[in-house]
Amino acid sequence: MHLESILEKFKAITESTVSKEAAVVDQEAKWPEQSIRKFQQEGLAGLVVPEDFGGLGQGLYGLAKTCEIIGRESGSAALCFGMHCVGSAVMAAKATTGQKEKFLEPIVRGEHLTSLALSEAGTGAHIYLPQTQLLSVSEQEFMLNGNKTFITNGGFCDSYVVSTVGVEADAPMHQFSCVIVEKTASGLEWGPEWKGLGMRGNSSRNLTLKDTIIPTANLLGERGDQLWYIFQVVAPYFLTSMAGTYLGIAQAAFDEAKKHLMERSYSHSGLMLSQIPHLQHRLGKLWAKIERTRQLVYHAAREGDYQGSSALLSILSAKAEVAHCVEEAVNEAMTLTGGIAYRENSRFDVLLRDAKAAHIMSPTTDLLYTWLGRAILDQPILND
Ligand SMILES: Cc1cc2nc3c(=O)[nH]c(=O)nc-3n(C[C@H](O)[C@H](O)[C@H](O)COP(=O)(O)OP(=O)(O)OC[C@H]3O[C@@H](n4cnc5c(N)ncnc54)[C@H](O)[C@@H]3O)c2cc1C
Repeated sequence: MHLESILEKFKAITESTVSKEAAVVDQEAKWPEQSIRKFQQEGLAGLVVPEDFGGLGQGLYGLAKTCEIIGRESGSAALCFGMHCVGSAVMAAKATTGQKEKFLEPIVRGEHLTSLALSEAGTGAHIYLPQTQLLSVSEQEFMLNGNKTFITNGGFCDSYVVSTVGVEADAPMHQFSCVIVEKTASGLEWGPEWKGLGMRGNSSRNLTLKDTIIPTANLLGERGDQLWYIFQVVAPYFLTSMAGTYLGIAQAAFDEAKKHLMERSYSHSGLMLSQIPHLQHRLGKLWAKIERTRQLVYHAAREGDYQGSSALLSILSAKAEVAHCVEEAVNEAMTLTGGIAYRENSRFDVLLRDAKAAHIMSPTTDLLYTWLGRAILDQPILND
């Protein structure tokens, strides 16, 4: 299916289902079940699964645009669907025939949901340094022990893509492994329900893996070649799904401000706010800020898809710049919308809280700029 047709389907579902569910998702910290299930039912869950495996065959550009569309109505729904896509892309990157049949084909049929479990309390924002242990039990089985934090879609997936330290005792730092842990695996203990300040529908829960047994067939790629995964798949897809989501939130804030300027008139002068030059100027400036960030996100995603020479730098920049853009856009749009923006349960109530997660979701803005500097200075990016 052509990307434009795919995006039309996402737009239609976002208007019909995501927008209706969004308020409850935020107010009740409810996982966006109706939205995610609708995407699955309508054949969209295999968005980034290659066409050879029956998927829609989209890459980073398609993912960015999809998350942007959903994020305009619900940051939580965009991130939940985005993390499923990141997990699917990691699975698909070097999938064996068995993994294709067991995980990717069900994903395409809308029968299997996945997510990414990288973060750990011990290493925090440094998501490339997992401490979860992966031990060989037999030819057929691995055992996992560790604690994962903030897993989006936690408790709602059929499987989780979990990062662990390399199997070999002397595995060099950063050469970790990724495995698929199915929801039925032994020794999974979920932490309390997620009650976030924003992104409240995310179900970003903690998971303890206690002597968890999984088939060795669930190892992704070769043992210890996960540095390749970080830079070729995990980081590009993770960063792009977040960049698209927060771009959608920035656009939603802009839309609110524009609507207010076009609808609000004063009785004393008869003027609409849209007729006041200073406000026209501020709205124009806000549009330019969002648009230049949007073009950076699209450019980065296309570079990533075509493996362009500036792909890595562009993708790192895009997520860092979106984090600034969404924070500033929501603030500015709130000011333009005046007092009604400040009331409880206004649209800005959600947008402001959701936007705050952009900087802290790993790789965080701090780390991204440091990585950029290192890459530009020809230094190893992950040297801590
Ligand atoms: C809504 C939400 C959804 C999430 N979803 C997922 C998910 O699906 N999967 C997943 O694996 N994780 C997920 N996370 C986790 C997230 O990606 C981060 O890993 C986590 O929020 C950051 O870890 P921390 O809170 O321990 O921060 P800390 O490690 O305590 O960092 C605090 C601050 O210090 C800064 N800092 C730390 N070290 C350095 C340094 N060397 N140089 C400069 N600055 C530094 C960081 O940038 C950060 O701003 C999610 C988080 C949130 C809030």
